[in-house]
Amino acid sequence: MFEKVLIANRGESALRIHRACREMGIQTVAVHSTADSDAMHVRLADESVCIGPPSPRESYLNIPAILTAAAITGADAIHPGIGFMAENATFAEMVEEHGFVFIGPTPQHIRIMGDKITAKRTVKELGLPTVPGSDGVVATLEAAKPLAARIGYPVLIKASAGGGGKGMKVASSAKDLAEAYTLARNEARAAFGNDEVYLEKYLAHPRHIEVQILGDTHGHAIHLGERDCSIQRRHQKVIEEAPSPGLNDAERAQIGKLAASVVQRLGYRGVGTLEFLYENGRFYFIEMNTRLQIEHTITEMVTGLDLVRAQIRVAAGLPLGIKQSDVLPSGHAIECRINAENPETFIPSPGLVTDFHAPGGLGVRVDSALYSGYRVPPYYDSMIAKLIVHGKTRNECLLRLRRSLEEFVIGGIETTLPLHRRLVAQPDFIDGRYDIHWLEGFLDPLS
Ligand code: ADP
Repeated sequence: MFEKVLIANRGESALRIHRACREMGIQTVAVHSTADSDAMHVRLADESVCIGPPSPRESYLNIPAILTAAAITGADAIHPGIGFMAENATFAEMVEEHGFVFIGPTPQHIRIMGDKITAKRTVKELGLPTVPGSDGVVATLEAAKPLAARIGYPVLIKASAGGGGKGMKVASSAKDLAEAYTLARNEARAAFGNDEVYLEKYLAHPRHIEVQILGDTHGHAIHLGERDCSIQRRHQKVIEEAPSPGLNDAERAQIGKLAASVVQRLGYRGVGTLEFLYENGRFYFIEMNTRLQIEHTITEMVTGLDLVRAQIRVAAGLPLGIKQSDVLPSGHAIECRINAENPETFIPSPGLVTDFHAPGGLGVRVDSALYSGYRVPPYYDSMIAKLIVHGKTRNECLLRLRRSLEEFVIGGIETTLPLHRRLVAQPDFIDGRYDIHWLEGFLDPLS
């Protein structure tokens, strides 16, 4: 096992990795920008190295600085956390070339799945159903026209390098195609430096269902059940739950088994997620994330497994040590992502946290790097806390979530806590009757 792991991230994600390392007896090295000297992940780590100024490009995305920090502290392995370098194949490659272990999949798997067109083609060959669409890159508007007509409107133009909901535009009819196509390419070029796009049928009322998988270097792969992440704003997840209230046990077993078999045939190492849209009893693969996800916590709550610990173990070459039949999910879990944003306009609200009181009690988990007196910097993602609640039944989980949200106090900055309190009181949410468009409709009834 590793003796020392460098965590190449910040915030609650860095803290999450630190906690697993600590429990495994592994020392941790934090890296941080000058804006994060007082951050919780820096305070708790055994050692820390300042790797640059606030701008992510010069610090958390600065490969030479991160590798140098690993070398001078004598780390054996690097964990990329969630975001920043977690899906950067070049980084994974350089980590290994410099003699450290990358705690994640192989660079080849990151590369294949990081390109959505290649990913779709790969899993389709392995037997997964995909959303109907173009077979590959659609290089010109002229090529898009007949393809869109064949797929049938509405169509979605998606960036091959996409992520975080960027580079995605809907054309509801032929007359919108030119504009949507151009906008998607421009947004993709600005966000990813790659403007390759493809077309997909735009599904009207799907749920977002994803399957957590885990593979080792000894040919084993298992799935840990599904999560429903349909409560989204601008294609970004806001609330997630496991299991999905929209699936029956037969569908659940079917998609889990299919996902695990694909991952096993890929020879995939580590944790990952296969994402699907689900509509009218059918699943359609959309993408694979080759990393730990923010919402991995709800899977941990229902399975009782520590996913980061599992990830570190397989990166060290150990076998999974659990079989599919050992995975026995129980109860229900829901996660709310709490952002430092105005709960109505979603304008970021960084600044000084004057009060911080996290809820507690049976079945309540708060993953956050906040503390009273901490100043939320304006340079990074606005998610500041995750409230995760577990109950024996979905109803118990909802009641517990409601009372935990009542207890939660974050003072001094605006947060999306009031939005979550409203959402969990909505009859549609309580009944589990929602799809990926539900939240946008709730926030803007005229949309
Ligand atoms: P990203 O990598 O940017 O997150 P995804 O491919 O994972 O992009 O899609 C993000 C979200 O966009 C999905 O959860 C879903 O809400 C929506 N979406 C993606 N593809 C489709 C589609 N073909 N039809 C309808 N909605 C879609």
